[in-house]
Amino acid sequence: MSIVDYHVHYYLDKCASSDMTLPNIDDCSNKLGIKEVAVLKHYSHCMPNGEDDWANWHKIKPEQFERYLDEVRSYKSRFGIIFRTGVETELLNTKGDINIPPEAQDRIDMVALSMHHMIDMPKLPLDATHYPPHCSEGDPWIMEWDKKVRDLGAEYFVESIVEANCNAIKRFPKVKTLSHLNDGLYMLRDYRVPVEEIPDDTLVELMEPLMKCMAENDVLWEIGGQKIYRYAVLNRAKELGVKFVPTGDAHFLGNGPCLNFSDHISLQKLMDEMGLPNGFIKF
Ligand SMILES: [Zn+2]
Ligand SMILES: [Zn+2]
Repeated sequence: MSIVDYHVHYYLDKCASSDMTLPNIDDCSNKLGIKEVAVLKHYSHCMPNGEDDWANWHKIKPEQFERYLDEVRSYKSRFGIIFRTGVETELLNTKGDINIPPEAQDRIDMVALSMHHMIDMPKLPLDATHYPPHCSEGDPWIMEWDKKVRDLGAEYFVESIVEANCNAIKRFPKVKTLSHLNDGLYMLRDYRVPVEEIPDDTLVELMEPLMKCMAENDVLWEIGGQKIYRYAVLNRAKELGVKFVPTGDAHFLGNGPCLNFSDHISLQKLMDEMGLPNGFIKF
């Protein structure tokens, strides 16, 4: 079985270690037994606050995107490893808009779609003034936020991210993976949505449309490093024919505090223990 990793970051992004260069990624892939690798560029066409930087993310610099494309396309592996181009970008709203324009999507092999921040929803327009993980208890904004979340109910948030991801998958065929999806609820937990109050059977029912959409469109479900709390979600996704792919979301080769390329191995082991089948992208 060929081993693939479709989520490896590149030194041009500030969040990635300076040694995430093509020769080093090539070497590391070879050591890990990986035969095909997608080297991703973070790509955010615009930030929620309309500026160049917001929370942990940065607006794309066009010249950096060009340099990234030139470098990855012209690289020749010393080990016969296949290199693919792609971006990690954000899901923006329930209509399924994503944070990279179609003309830029046409230039890459794949889009890894992430929920990096709350999406814009009909009952709760996106508020870029605050990012909950950067707020503290007792902060007046976070108290107001908690009340809004309670009033809408956790199920509304799950329904909204399901609708948003399905729409993005149907509209943008370059979307090939949903990044660090794990049990599907990480972004909502970061935004203090009490998803653990939703019983397993209700949660599974709410998420089934996304599972079916991923299976039908050959979009892979990424298993990343965060702890999985809701195994029922993954078990149902497997039953509905979803395929999975492990990745360390590598920002480091192997010497970082987390997000190491080498984490691929332990995540594949976790998938094997859970009986989650591997999927591959047909490029
Ligand atoms: Zn990053
Ligand atoms: Zn990433």
